[in-house]
Amino acid sequence: MRKTCRKATPSHITCAVASALTALAMTGSMWEAQAATATPALGYSPANMNKRVSPRLDFYQYATGNWLKRTQIAPDEPDVGGFSQLANNLDRQLLKLIKDAATTQDAPGSARQQIGDYWRAAMDVKRQNELGLKPLQADLQRVASLTLPGSPASVGELSARLQLGFVASPLLNVETTPDAKDSSTNLLIILAGQQALTPDEYAKPDGQRVRDLYLAHISKMLQSAGDNAEAAAASARTVLAIETELSAARLTPLQQRDPAMTYNKMPLADAQALIPALDISAKLRAMGVTPPATVQVQDIAALKAVNTVLSTRSPDEVRTLLRWHVLSARASALGETWRELDHAFDRQRKGLPTSPTREREVTQAINMQLYHPLSRLYVQAHFPDTTRREITRMVSHVKDEFAQRLRHNPWLDEPTRAAALDKLSQVDIQVGYPQQWIDFSGLLIKPDDHFGNTQRADAFQLRRDLARVGQPVVNERFASPPYTTPTSVNAAYNPQTNSIDITAAIVQPPFYKPGADAAVNYCTIGAVIGHELTHGFDSFGRQYGPKGNLRDWWTPQATAEFKKRTDVLVQQYSAFTLLPGVQHNGELTLTENTADLGGITLAHAALQRHLADHPLPRIDGLSSDQRCFVAWAQMWSYKARPERVKLLAAVDYHANSALRGYVPLLHLDAFHKAFGTRPGDAMWRAPAMRMRIW
Ligand SMILES: [Zn+2]
Repeated sequence: MRKTCRKATPSHITCAVASALTALAMTGSMWEAQAATATPALGYSPANMNKRVSPRLDFYQYATGNWLKRTQIAPDEPDVGGFSQLANNLDRQLLKLIKDAATTQDAPGSARQQIGDYWRAAMDVKRQNELGLKPLQADLQRVASLTLPGSPASVGELSARLQLGFVASPLLNVETTPDAKDSSTNLLIILAGQQALTPDEYAKPDGQRVRDLYLAHISKMLQSAGDNAEAAAASARTVLAIETELSAARLTPLQQRDPAMTYNKMPLADAQALIPALDISAKLRAMGVTPPATVQVQDIAALKAVNTVLSTRSPDEVRTLLRWHVLSARASALGETWRELDHAFDRQRKGLPTSPTREREVTQAINMQLYHPLSRLYVQAHFPDTTRREITRMVSHVKDEFAQRLRHNPWLDEPTRAAALDKLSQVDIQVGYPQQWIDFSGLLIKPDDHFGNTQRADAFQLRRDLARVGQPVVNERFASPPYTTPTSVNAAYNPQTNSIDITAAIVQPPFYKPGADAAVNYCTIGAVIGHELTHGFDSFGRQYGPKGNLRDWWTPQATAEFKKRTDVLVQQYSAFTLLPGVQHNGELTLTENTADLGGITLAHAALQRHLADHPLPRIDGLSSDQRCFVAWAQMWSYKARPERVKLLAAVDYHANSALRGYVPLLHLDAFHKAFGTRPGDAMWRAPAMRMRIW
């Protein structure tokens, strides 16, 4: 995660259709050799079904069985499914555009110059090897000469340097976010440092395997930087102990989604009092930011824990933690020795036989760092205007359907119904790419300085972000890599702006095929659109009003009715065991499960309306409704390594994809009718237990 996630998850992008982890994990693959493999083509196909299995007994096997049988997880991927297969295709298209840009000399600051020179520098492994650890020397020196304790200003300044130069500081990071209760203004948000492992990996007994790997990894990296084996092993233990201590204090992934726990708006002086060992103002000034009077603290206990580490650990221990961060945060931009160690840890942790190719790694890095320049080339080459118009039309159909259903919803009371309709009418949905591209021309990309390029690109992004402190919010669209850029395989709802970005990259098979059977298109991309629309009304999104302000617009009665229904989903999704000892978490995944149910419900209903004017025959022996539900399940076709399943179960807000493929369908009467389920069938669900939320 550290390798590709340049920045802490933006606090406002919370409801993507793909998990961030899914998006980030789209590394490596069949890649160059894919054409030669037997992997089934992307998108709906009756050939992916296994009709020997009864849909009444195991719908997921029925709808996707042949796909599951024929599809292998590539040796350099943690899983395989619609998202990762599309990401593979996408990366091949991007690589072609990148290589093409590298064949010409273009005007400085142009998209082609930046992309071409980034590529040239990144592929010059010989030069990276010659440089060795030289790109880190000045910062390693800064860490070594940090005086502790009693120098909060120096600690603040060093933390600034680490955030600007090394992705994030392990101590404290700053970003901007719209003020949750005044969405027209940007606030500075203070976050505790990023961590390499998940909370479970730090704390749980069965995280021991990963902890052992991590200890060995730190030790090897430090030895490759000149430490002797004994000192390196001792330092590794120190790093793990401090990180474990910090992890234990943090909000859980579920708590991080709760504005009541994270909206801690306070005077800067009060935030400073939480962490006297690090001077926040000194940090801000070192980053060129005037300290604001008011800030938001994301996680109060986590900040206090950083203070405890700084004030109770020995100076050597603190310096060890910081030195490790400098060495590891950008290891993938260093020479082969360090890159390979970094890859080896990644492979072991994820259970992968091989790592992605260098070409793909660089393609993804460019996509993360030069996201709008590359997206411009991509949109020009691969995103037809007809597709944009077609999807925009479908958006309005699905949105109309939602409004219609809100008007007739049996459990909403009148005040809440009116407020919901008002919120829905104000959702701003854009398709493909932004009306205005971000100007990257001020970013210096050199043909011979890979490490510097990666640092300057991240700093460019961070400085743009911090320049917004105290400024009015401008809703910059398609601008959060890897969630919402035109070249992210995703769609995302932002509750703080009440807007949805549907990226150019997702509007392809398996999510959408121009001119294909309406039953299929509605129940894939139409359901994705519905999924995003209902996010504004799930247990998280419903806390925000039409302008993105945190305020309760629900009557207590409507809240109780809503909760009665979502409690059933929590229970239902908590009942699944993914692997021995790995239980599915219905509470963590509630918002996404509600959106999946809403998405397929709206899509199916919109399809009925469409069919009333444009009737379709049975195709491939399947009725329109049957094709709709099979297409939905096939969109979620998925296979994963056990390491992956376990990791996602602990931190992902989305249910396991294989569950997404059929569990929401069990709530739809039309599904039971289409396949004739009966009491006693595994897929049967008593009508009283079928939740109709939207
Ligand atoms: Zn979602």
